[in-house]
Amino acid sequence: IVNIHQLHKSYGEREVLTGIDVTINAGEVVCLIGPSGSGKSTLLRCVNQLEHATSGTVTVLGQTIAADDHEPDIDIDDLRSRVGMVFQQFNLFAHMTVLENCTIAQRRVLGRGKKEAERIAHLNLERVGLGDRGSSYPRQLSGGQQQRVAIARALSMDPELMLFDEPTSALDPELVGDVLTVMRELAEQGMTMLVVTHEMAFARDVADRVVFMDQGVIVEEGPAEQVINSPSQERTQQFLKRVL
Ligand code: ATP
Ligand code: MG
Repeated sequence: IVNIHQLHKSYGEREVLTGIDVTINAGEVVCLIGPSGSGKSTLLRCVNQLEHATSGTVTVLGQTIAADDHEPDIDIDDLRSRVGMVFQQFNLFAHMTVLENCTIAQRRVLGRGKKEAERIAHLNLERVGLGDRGSSYPRQLSGGQQQRVAIARALSMDPELMLFDEPTSALDPELVGDVLTVMRELAEQGMTMLVVTHEMAFARDVADRVVFMDQGVIVEEGPAEQVINSPSQERTQQFLKRVL
């Protein structure tokens, strides 16, 4: 579903990603861990084409974009509509109800009718435990509830891949669990997921694979249990010592 080959990304003179290779298969859950500034968000943004590679190729859902291809022969809007993204800040529309937040892209991008979009939104709100909050406004919800709405909104687009960028980092500790539970259920239902997280227990229990990045390179990757419980690289060990 995702195949990244020798991805380099620079901002001006500064190279932030230095030759990344990653493959994600259908149904796999991959957690991306690493220190601040290591390039995790940049990698995620390259996957859904919010950033263009400086060199290398990124293949997502069968569409390949090469760095030197400045007018790629693919529909980036179509690709983005098939990849769900959930950010640290929930980015809900404050002036819209929960239901409207979950229907607007379905209607505008997928061209679904109002009734159909609302039916699908409702199903996904139920899935995240908020079936009764459709008429609330974001400010009337806790951070954890807002993040679950953001997940329901992404799911309402029927994504083939979900990207999460530190989805629980902005939450009060007591609200983290509900969001992780929703993500764990999604994983169990077979969703393909790439998750940047500092929640090591989640990574160990839910991820099929863990990828540890530092300074723009992949230092180590492997089965979750192995990378987190018995990392082979010194840098991974040091990082885990600090976060566990
Ligand atoms: P964190 O854990 O803090 O979110 P990260 O691993 O997600 O960190 P990135 O956000 O990918 O790291 O950033 C990697 C490096 O790229 C950082 O040094 C950052 O300052 C730099 N960077 C990110 N975005 C830009 C940008 N738009 N312009 C210039 N530099 C950027
Ligand atoms: Mg980041």
